[in-house]
Amino acid sequence: MSAWLEHPLLAAAGVRHGFGLRTSPALPGVRRPVQVHGATVVRADSGAALGEADAVLATRPGVAVGVVTADCVPVLVAAGGAVVAVHAGWRGLAAGVIPRALEALAEAAPGAAPVAAVGPCIGACCYEVDAPVLGALRLRFGAALEGALRPARPGHALLDLAALAREALLTAGLAPGRVGLLAGACTRCDAARFHSFRRDGASAGRLLSWIEATIAAPWPRRRHLSTRALRASAPACSAPSSGPRSRPSPTTSSPSSRWATRASPTPSSRRPTRRCSPTSS
Ligand SMILES: [Zn+2]
Repeated sequence: MSAWLEHPLLAAAGVRHGFGLRTSPALPGVRRPVQVHGATVVRADSGAALGEADAVLATRPGVAVGVVTADCVPVLVAAGGAVVAVHAGWRGLAAGVIPRALEALAEAAPGAAPVAAVGPCIGACCYEVDAPVLGALRLRFGAALEGALRPARPGHALLDLAALAREALLTAGLAPGRVGLLAGACTRCDAARFHSFRRDGASAGRLLSWIEATIAAPWPRRRHLSTRALRASAPACSAPSSGPRSRPSPTTSSPSSRWATRASPTPSSRRPTRRCSPTSS
């Protein structure tokens, strides 16, 4: 098994990154904040301690930033050489951590078109939430929340956190073709690859997701994106086709079929950038 999951959208942009697996090695050089399920964004370019935050930004080439998750959503975004790693559970999504992170990224790389990947998290198959959670999310997302919900017992709903993170990215202005996610990669269902708090409780491990700032690359800027190009690539964001609490198909919707994996685990500005052929998100 390769050490990290890599998303083709970020790889095609030459962005070093990885979504962790149970087997991924520790990367002590990755700058991580103390996560508190909030919406604070911290910048990691200096060596100063990062403190409490749920999004961490870097603009200096070679600086790698990351977050850890065990059912929450890791989101990695790059723009013009700057990068931000976001930890987004339901509290962070309700607090607006994704728009806050994108605002910080836009300040760091003005005019650059961001590209984002939503990593493995608990799926709607396994994530039942109650009315207070739904109320908090509805304040942030309004009617758009309904698209991320599946039927459940009265007073509850099954929540698709990845779909909601994608909604937050689109609402913040990202083009649909520049937001990738992994349908059917449920951290609770897939015990072979992922840690899960809901499955393993307090003893659950954590998955590291990281992304490395690079020298500003000739990525497309907003004003240069053609309308046709923006429409061309619909993200792989389909909801599970079967009913509530069903498990994703291990054959027809294999996560690995849409994700590249790689064995090289060390973020470093000294290594040459590996280019992957662009594929769908
Ligand atoms: Zn599941």
